[in-house]
Amino acid sequence: MAIRKIRLDGDDVLRKECKPIEKMTSRLATLIDDMYDTMYEANGVGLAAPQVGILKRLVVIDIGDGNPLTLINPVIIESDGEQEGEEGCLSLPGLQGTVIRPNHVVCKALNEDMEEFIVEGEGLLARAICHELDHLDGVLYKDRTLDGLYSVEAPKED
Ligand code: ZN
Repeated sequence: MAIRKIRLDGDDVLRKECKPIEKMTSRLATLIDDMYDTMYEANGVGLAAPQVGILKRLVVIDIGDGNPLTLINPVIIESDGEQEGEEGCLSLPGLQGTVIRPNHVVCKALNEDMEEFIVEGEGLLARAICHELDHLDGVLYKDRTLDGLYSVEAPKED
């Protein structure tokens, strides 16, 4: 259990493409635990491995529905609908922007036992999946905002 340092916008590591994970190791299991600790400590709803400096295709998401999600090598296999809403990112503290995302996605990933599973997300979960998967390809939500970034008074809780 450890809190890792969250890399901030401007750090090159956030702009790199991440590599697929081939097998579970104790090191990787520790990384996953640390990512949850780091995300909860920062009041985030998602965190991608490159945000803690690790270029692997791994994200954790918890939108507060009691169902934390570890996604290894995730791929969106279906998406539909559209939602416009505000987004923030732990790597861009104190900022928000409006981003259009699909309203519904179907995502295929491996779990912590390296078994394939499918997760479907709507609304906030669909948004979180899209946002976190973007990180794995070096994309930040600020690249997709409709009218740029604006400041928020307090760091966004979600
Ligand atoms: Zn982010």
